[in-house]
Formats: sequence, structure tokens, C-alpha cells
Amino acid sequence: MNGTSQIVYLNGHFLPLAQAHVSVLDRGFIFGDGVYEVIPAYSRRAFRLDEHLRRLQHSLDGIRLANPHTNAEWADLIRELIARNTGEDQYLYLHLTRGVALRDHAFPQGVAPTVFMMSTPLVPPPREWCETGVAAVSAIDNRWDRCDIKAIALLPNVLLRQLAVDHGAVETVLFRDGILTEGAASNIFAVENGVILAPPKDNHMLPGITYDLVLELAEAHGIPCEIGRYGEARIRAADELWLTSSTKEILPITRLDDRPVGSGRPGPVFRKMHALYQEYKTQVMRASA
Ligand code: PMP
Repeated sequence: MNGTSQIVYLNGHFLPLAQAHVSVLDRGFIFGDGVYEVIPAYSRRAFRLDEHLRRLQHSLDGIRLANPHTNAEWADLIRELIARNTGEDQYLYLHLTRGVALRDHAFPQGVAPTVFMMSTPLVPPPREWCETGVAAVSAIDNRWDRCDIKAIALLPNVLLRQLAVDHGAVETVLFRDGILTEGAASNIFAVENGVILAPPKDNHMLPGITYDLVLELAEAHGIPCEIGRYGEARIRAADELWLTSSTKEILPITRLDDRPVGSGRPGPVFRKMHALYQEYKTQVMRASA
């Protein structure tokens, strides 16, 4: 990535990345007191923007931080960020903190939030990951009780994802009290006898925009789905496992903790869903062109 030509947004200004600075007293730096969003843009158009802005509002409400912009203002800022950066496909990172104040846990009064946005080229996952699948490891979900908030304080997620990397795997599948929640940076689905199994959108997982799209596509195309709490044994015995996220789209997990998932190859329901997802993306981008 060429950081010197990258244009970012900070507190009302577009400027080169190298010139963007925040105070060491920013509460994001001191406390991890903030929230974020990641929005993919295909063919220079933000994908599912309304859904991402709705989730941002949910995160802001969750930490009691007022939204500094209307959705129309966000849409304008995002359009400008895309226009000022190179690449047809970009991924946009939005980051808001409770601003700069002398260090005290309690909320500061009359302080403006810090608003930062950057764009990075969006590189799709390697083709072979879809064709042969990826490896994952599992771990106990030791995060807090508000995983529905997209909080910038990601230390548990960082440690859990590193566990996957340490084992040459792509993701860590999390179980809380023996029940599937999600991945360290993705949502997880299973398939059992042709039925898609998904954990419920509660406080133990991030409500993924891709998760919603997968369920929407399944419903529209008559693929049966069941939302529920699934124990570790059932997940390990599933025919298929997938991970989903805005940047990784849908990937088949074909090994979990060094054992094959189902046949050890991407399954038929994955192939169907992957095709539906790509078709949906193409249609949306064509419609908005
Ligand atoms: N769960 C977690 C913990 C995540 O960090 C992410 C996004 N990287 C997701 C789920 C997937 O969400 P989305 O589909 O909106 O990218």
C-alpha cells in the first residue's frame, strides 16, 4: 500500500495519511473508547451502506456516543473518500472515539468526538481458498458481554485471531460455554443435512452485514435455515462450516483443529451460496452504476 498517496479523513478534513495525527490524550488511544465500521466498496460504490450505517448507530448507542453526522452526511463523506482514493474496489474503515480529554474514565463534557476514515484497496481472498477451503482452529470465547457493539477495543479478538495464524490457519472459531458464537473477525455458519445453521444475533456476536445477506439469499432461494444455539459436538460433526465477513465474503472452513470438516472439501451448499453471493454483488453494482 502506498501510504503517502492515500487520502484519509480526520475531523472535517481530507488529507494525506502522513499528515493525519491525533493527540495521545485521545480516548481511543487511552481507553479504547470508540467504535468502528468496515464497509466494502465495489466499483467505487459502498456496498450495503444503509445496513452499515444502521449498525454504526447501534454501536454508538451502545457506548452512549452521539452520532456527529446524519446518514446523508456520512454518505457524502464516504463518496468523497472513495473518489479521492485509487482502486475500483476499496474497503472503508470508519472510526469514532469519545474525543480528546485529560485522562479520566468518566465521559468528558462538551468534547467533540474524533472521526477518522481511511480507504484501503480491497483484495478478494485467494481463489484457492474458495476452491479448497481454509483451516480454522477453535478457542473459548473469552470476550465481554457486548460483542454486538463494534468496539475499537479489540485485544481479545487480536489474541484469538493470532492463535489461528500461529497454527497456520485463517480463523479462530469461538465457543462460549460450549456454544458456537462467531469467529475472531467473522461470523460462522454450519450446514447439516442441507440445512444452514446460524447462531442468533444476540449480545454474544457481531451482527454481520454478510451474515444478514447470507440468510436473505438463503430465504430468497429456498435454502432451509435454522437459527439456534449449537454445541461444540454438533458443529464439529457438521457437513460444512463457513465463515463470512465483508472483506472475506464467504469462505468454506474445511479443517477445524486439524480434523476435516465433513468431506474435507467445500460442500454443495457453500458452492450454491457463494454463487448466489457473487451474483447478488454483480446485480447490485450494475443497478447502481
Ligand atoms: N464478527 C466479528 C467479530 C467481526 O470482526 C466481523 C467483521 N470483520 C464480523 C463478525 C463480520 O461482519 P461483517 O459481515 O459485517 O463484515
